[in-house]
Amino acid sequence: MLNNKINVFWFKRDLRILDNLPLFEASKRDAKLLLIYVIEDFLLNDKHYSDIHWNFIKQSIDDINKSLGEKSILFVRSDVISALKKINKKFKIQSIYSHLETGIDITYQRDKKVSKYCKANAINWFEYEKNYVKRGLKNRKKWIEGWNEYVRSPIVNIDLDRLDLIDPNEFKDEFILLSTNTKNNKNIQPGGTSNALKYLETFSDNRIKNYNKNISKPQESRFSCSRLSPYISWGNLSSRYIWQKLKKSIDHGNSKFQVNSFLSRLRWNSHFIQRFEMESSIEFSSVNRGYQIIKKKINDSYYTAWTDGETGFPLVDASIKCLKATGYLNFRMRSMIVSFFTHHLWQPWQLSSHFLARNFLDFEPGIHYSQLQMQAGETGVNTIRIYNPTKNAIEKDKEAIFIKKWIPELKNVPKPLVFEPWKMSEVEQKLFNCEIGKNYPGRIVDIAVTRKYALDKLWGMRRNVEVKVDKKRILSRHINS
Ligand SMILES: Cc1cc2nc3c(=O)[nH]c(=O)nc-3n(C[C@H](O)[C@H](O)[C@H](O)COP(=O)(O)OP(=O)(O)OC[C@H]3O[C@@H](n4cnc5c(N)ncnc54)[C@H](O)[C@@H]3O)c2cc1C
Repeated sequence: MLNNKINVFWFKRDLRILDNLPLFEASKRDAKLLLIYVIEDFLLNDKHYSDIHWNFIKQSIDDINKSLGEKSILFVRSDVISALKKINKKFKIQSIYSHLETGIDITYQRDKKVSKYCKANAINWFEYEKNYVKRGLKNRKKWIEGWNEYVRSPIVNIDLDRLDLIDPNEFKDEFILLSTNTKNNKNIQPGGTSNALKYLETFSDNRIKNYNKNISKPQESRFSCSRLSPYISWGNLSSRYIWQKLKKSIDHGNSKFQVNSFLSRLRWNSHFIQRFEMESSIEFSSVNRGYQIIKKKINDSYYTAWTDGETGFPLVDASIKCLKATGYLNFRMRSMIVSFFTHHLWQPWQLSSHFLARNFLDFEPGIHYSQLQMQAGETGVNTIRIYNPTKNAIEKDKEAIFIKKWIPELKNVPKPLVFEPWKMSEVEQKLFNCEIGKNYPGRIVDIAVTRKYALDKLWGMRRNVEVKVDKKRILSRHINS
């Protein structure tokens, strides 16, 4: 072959064509372009990931393929370097384009190996920042200003007719080409930019109206929050695209208050990922080094009760069951279940992280690990919040609709007993068809006792010298100024 030079676009957590800057840049070059997505064994086996993620990824790839027409993405199972080697044997890779991935440690180690491979083989690897998350920052000076500029900057539109793509069928001898078929699961949000745009439109046109009012309610928030998180995490939409669409919706009648409240959360998304980018060790240990001396004893039966939704606290159990069935919980319920695990059950946040990551469809390492530690009260800079699951149920699920949906065993139990079923007398248990210990578990802890224990411990830690010293370091490194 005379001119066999090609460029490669490596899809990672940026599964879209719309507003994809590195793809746009790759499309402008004069060589042919190969689009790839590689499912890697080390991630398939990693405890953060589960089928809900792989299905979402497949649906996202399928959506891109549909928009591309006859050509499509080379979708294979391999490790990335072996895949690149095979491609490079057939063609000569000039450059690889991708987004910069702020991932877990094992994806970072993989990227370092890919970088080494590229250098050794005279391949340029151009990595572009995602949603204004920057590599190599020492502090957050002017970060907010930069993010504000980014979200106001022009959207990148790619002319699909100009994409000079290589057909993946050219690699039939080198790879087994994977199918993007998935089983339909109506409970889980489907992946792909087309679906993301539908969620964005219904949110902007209608669902945003009660955004603030319902944000902490487990049932109503499922409708009035945007539900855009998986689409942002897997890159079906850019933050910039969402920001501009919502900002414009104020001109069409949306309340400034609702829109701005949503937009500040969109900024938190990049804020937390930036924190992780600058301090990736928080995947394993507390951001505030002073807290690393806490040694919580693992209790297997507590872990099992919590992950099975069998703690005897209806809102905790309903949240866990709902999460496992749908891949989604609103922010307050996420915080509440983590607080229950780390405070009332006094278990290490590290023990909860894989289970939650596997079940959150929107698993985003930077937000996940920052939030786990904030909710566990181990940052030294945030307010310590020990959620009372009963009080939250009474306030946020007033009619127990969410609880009864996910725990049908409690469906005949009236208020207020449904919030504290352990208080039912034997007669009431018979009357409401819900025997404690048989149909629904008794509570595994007394939260009045556990709350006091956790509060004393955590407030005690705030006086620890190392906690105080590291608090200063965290503020100067991670707080926007
Ligand atoms: C323990 C714990 C783990 C979490 N893990 C994740 C995760 O892996 N991925 C993830 O996207 N969010 C995570 N969150 C944050 C938050 O709960 C979700 O972003 C939100 O519930 C998603 O629903 P939504 O898209 O309807 O949110 P909306 O309220 O409509 O918000 C819009 C967008 O803003 C961002 N956002 C909202 N709240 C937060 C927040 N507190 N921190 C950072 N960004 C935010 C998200 O991208 C979200 O899609 C976690 C929260 C907790 C307490």
